[in-house]
Amino acid sequence: MQKGEMLANGKAKSVYKTDEPKKLIMHFRNDTSAFDGEKIEQLDRKGMVNNKFNAFIMQRLEEGGIPTHFEKVISEDESVVKNLDMLPIECVVRNISTGSLCKRLGVAEGLDLEPPLFEFFLKNDELHDPMINDFHIISFKWATQDEIEKMKELTFKVNDILKKLFLDAGIILVDYKLEFGRYDGKLLLGDEFSPDGCRLWDVNTREKLDKDRFRQGLGGVVEAYEAVAERLGIAI
Ligand code: 5GP
Repeated sequence: MQKGEMLANGKAKSVYKTDEPKKLIMHFRNDTSAFDGEKIEQLDRKGMVNNKFNAFIMQRLEEGGIPTHFEKVISEDESVVKNLDMLPIECVVRNISTGSLCKRLGVAEGLDLEPPLFEFFLKNDELHDPMINDFHIISFKWATQDEIEKMKELTFKVNDILKKLFLDAGIILVDYKLEFGRYDGKLLLGDEFSPDGCRLWDVNTREKLDKDRFRQGLGGVVEAYEAVAERLGIAI
């Protein structure tokens, strides 16, 4: 497979065309951003760790019946994925209250959310990814009603699979963000699943093992990602 021109350059990943129109190469960079790109740093090894982390999780999700765009790892920090038509929507599921939920609603941190919460956000950095609901999605034709139902169904199914996977490694899956796209008339999970886009706490100490370490200036960011990977049995 030949790597072609860059198609998109995100805050932490770049996407390249290939000589196969239906396949793309996703490059996980060391760039780490927070607060809609206001804080950006290079963290050594992060691209490589996230590439392997994402591959492991996407494979576990496929095995669990979630259709994803992931095809294969082709280098330390690159993977081949299917070329999806991405929806401009972020799907968030929360098992424990923290982050923007607490700021927005004034609810206490650390509450168990049973049943888990589901939220949609519009993917738009300039507008700081505002929260939206099903009606906005339909009115502005960001997705169909069937796609809304599918995104909810798949995002909750991901929760069932990953909550157990992480808990077996002594880690609580606090919350996470997923993005979906269209491919041959089907909705597939796209983007990535790594500690950049979820919150992971040690089950005993509640130590943060995710990008909140970067957002909050706690240090040891990539070291925490690697510790999670090791506990999951991912070869880095
Ligand atoms: P919150 O809404 O509390 O900021 O985030 C909820 C969850 O979704 C967290 O796990 C957070 O990492 C993830 N998340 C929300 N928006 C984004 C985003 O724009 N980029 C990334 N990487 N993760 C996000």
